[in-house]
Parts: sequence; C-alpha cells; structure tokens
Amino acid sequence: MKPTAVKRGFTLIELLAVVSIIALLTALLLPTLQRAREAAKATLCMSNQRQITQTCTMYANGHRRRMPVEYTDAGGRKSLFPWFLSGLKNAGKQPGPEYLAPGPIFGCPANNRFKQTTDLGQWGRSNKSYGMAGDTTNFAYLKKTKINDPAFLPAIVEQHLARVDQPARLVWTIDTVSMNYEGYIMIARFYPDRGGGWGERVHLTHSNRAATSFFDGHVELLSAQNLRDDTAHQITCFFDVNHKSLLLDLP
Ligand SMILES: [Zn+2]
Repeated sequence: MKPTAVKRGFTLIELLAVVSIIALLTALLLPTLQRAREAAKATLCMSNQRQITQTCTMYANGHRRRMPVEYTDAGGRKSLFPWFLSGLKNAGKQPGPEYLAPGPIFGCPANNRFKQTTDLGQWGRSNKSYGMAGDTTNFAYLKKTKINDPAFLPAIVEQHLARVDQPARLVWTIDTVSMNYEGYIMIARFYPDRGGGWGERVHLTHSNRAATSFFDGHVELLSAQNLRDDTAHQITCFFDVNHKSLLLDLP
C-alpha cells in the first residue's frame, strides 16, 4: 500500500514564531549595520582630510613652505583655498595652479548640518565642513602679511610650515561646519575657545569624535577631551554629535 502524501501549511503559531525570529535578528543586526555605516563615513572623512593636507603640503613645498589661508578686505576674512588649490577664476582674483579639484572631498559625509551636494567647492557656495585654525595671535606658524598684489590687498594670512614646531600636536584641518556664512568656499575656520552659531566651532560628528588632521600628516578621530588635552590648540568649544553646545574648561 502506498503511503498517502499529507500536504499541510504552516500553523499560525509556526508563522508567528518565524516572524518573531526575523524581527529579533533584525533588531540584533541593525545597530551593527548602523555602526558599520558610521565607521565607513568616519574613514571617508579621514581620507578626505588626509588628501587635503597632503595637497597643502605639496603646494607649500613649491611656495617657500607657505600656504595662504585667508585674506582680509573691507568685507571681512575670506578663504583663499579656491584660488590657491583649485585654480578657480573668480572676481578678478588670480587663479592658482590646480592641485585639488572641487568636489565632495571638501565635505564630511557624516554631518547632517552640512549640505551634501556634489558641487562643493564651486564658486559662490558657502558650504564647508572642514576648518583650519583661524587664530592669528597664539601660534607663530600663522602670520599675517601685507602684500602689494592688488588681487589680495590689503593682507593675507599664511601658514608657514617652517615655523610649525609641534607638527604631531598642531591641528591642520578638523570637522567644522559653515553654511550660509561668508561668501566663500571649501575650507572654514575654527577657533579653539569660541565660536557661535554653526561656524567656527569643532563638530564632534563621528560618535562624539572629530576627524582631525595634523601638520605631520597623520589623521585621527579624537574626543573633546583628547582635543583639549592632547593638541597644541587645547580646543574647548564644540558642538556634540547631537548638535548641542559643549564647552570644556581648560585643564
Ligand atoms: Zn567628518
């Protein structure tokens, strides 16, 4: 006698068990995926900053070890990056040689206060997410120079690489945000101990750490405490990962 084939579906209990297991696995995996995504963004951010500082070093090595960072006119301080690194023509200013093309390299992929666009670095966009030190008084490597070039009157601020005496502790670029602020592009500035609004403060965008490049070429993810205690700038003024103001006391 042939055995009778019995065809039966899943019971409701079995289906519920399967659905519960899938939900449980998803709940377990999601934080891991989230962490992997954040880690990938931090890696990309560090890579961006490494390339920017390598380009600055190349530029400076061809120009008496100097890298212009700002100039001042009646309207205030402006970033010189578009002219010196990308060679963009604008407003009658002299274009520099092209070292680094405008693009996403000038933006942190993790900062949602920063507008993620593909036209970063284009003239007229005020959308920057990396900053350089804007303080001209505390550090000898930053020097304001008056020059007679009408393109850059009345003064420019230059970084003098030969004067950098603690390259492994001196911040070169760091996660910062500047939107709708100034009319210029690519690189913002930060102040170690002040800064209001979104500009001029370090942003701890990567799990409460900021991607930071140094003058010796190394790049790290550093916490607020690290940035206060272990850098020459002794940074005390931040926005945390939730965009809340965070102020540390000096050690
Ligand atoms: Zn970043």
